[in-house]
Amino acid sequence: MMTDTETRSKAPQPKPWIEAIHAYVPGKSSGKDGRPLIKLSANENPLGTSEAALAAKAQAPALYPDPDSKALRAKLGELHGIDPARIVMGTGSDELLNLAAQGYAGPGDEVIYVRYGFSVYDIAARRCGATPVVAPDADYGTDVDALIALVTDRTRVVFIANPNNPTGSYLPKGEIARLHAALPADVLLVLDQAYGEYVAPEDEDGAMALAAAHDNVLVTRTFSKIFGLAGERIGWGTGAPGIIQTLNRIRGPFNVSSTGQAMALAALEDTAFVEHSRVHNRDERARFVEKIEALGNHGLRALPSQANFVLILFEGPLSAETAFDGLAERGYIVRWLPGQGLPQALRITIGKRADLDVIADVLRDMAQAAK
Ligand SMILES: *Cc1c(COP(=O)(O)O)cnc(C)c1O
Repeated sequence: MMTDTETRSKAPQPKPWIEAIHAYVPGKSSGKDGRPLIKLSANENPLGTSEAALAAKAQAPALYPDPDSKALRAKLGELHGIDPARIVMGTGSDELLNLAAQGYAGPGDEVIYVRYGFSVYDIAARRCGATPVVAPDADYGTDVDALIALVTDRTRVVFIANPNNPTGSYLPKGEIARLHAALPADVLLVLDQAYGEYVAPEDEDGAMALAAAHDNVLVTRTFSKIFGLAGERIGWGTGAPGIIQTLNRIRGPFNVSSTGQAMALAALEDTAFVEHSRVHNRDERARFVEKIEALGNHGLRALPSQANFVLILFEGPLSAETAFDGLAERGYIVRWLPGQGLPQALRITIGKRADLDVIADVLRDMAQAAK
């Protein structure tokens, strides 16, 4: 049946929930005048990536990749003690976060995450038409009771990053277990461990064991952070076979490139590079945080971080925006997050020691001069 063309719109109309999305704002890599800056705004590995991964890149075939990333999943399964049938690969873990929302939530459903959480959760919830529900924080950290209080009959997915980005805060094993125990069995708990490899082994949060034992937990990991392969876009997830099958149904069929698969496999085997990166991060983060803590009387406060970045709050005369501009002036780009409700904060990736020393000196000089 023909409809009256006069009454119809002149152009295709996006769904209202798509129009409500604020597109993801990536960390910048150049200053206002376009000159390249040292980039400490996207939590990339300042040590680069494994030499073995770079060598593998040259060997990768240019034909269609293995759609099931079999060798890579087998290696991940071996390293983590997981049946490869319980592993799904993604074009970055971003793809898996989006698929988790799309697979389990839609219009009329609710998706919960924390205020000061990873901005992809909001996009993932909205793009499938679900209603985002934001839990209040506890001094910027994740408040499990606040999350539990928001669960309703309509809740379908809960997203938690542990460590959390952009705050760096961390929930111990007991808190993760308590949150899981409080959720109805039909709510999918997504535990995003993008920074999991940076956590000291003794502080491990038990997410993998929850994903192995329960039907409603998906753990996501990435090659973008400690492995230094952000450019290749490789992430993975593990959970019950039903969850993995759901995500496999809706993922891109060739979602991980041949070079990505080859580089990730080599990167996993180079355990020395990963351990060196973890220790570098732990030591340089402690050294940097100590310098920021010394500026406490000027209103600077570094939130405790288990990740490869630190969120610094500017609660005195020096504003985060002024500090951001001052650092850019000196050649450093960090992350200022007014769009995420954090105009009072800068997120700074733990880079090389010499760079962090300059940053700490610049912040000290600016804080002392500010009135
Ligand atoms: C960086 C990051 C990711 C990783 O995204 P990729 O798509 O794997 O590059 C996921 N979650 C959080 C919280 C992050 O900070």
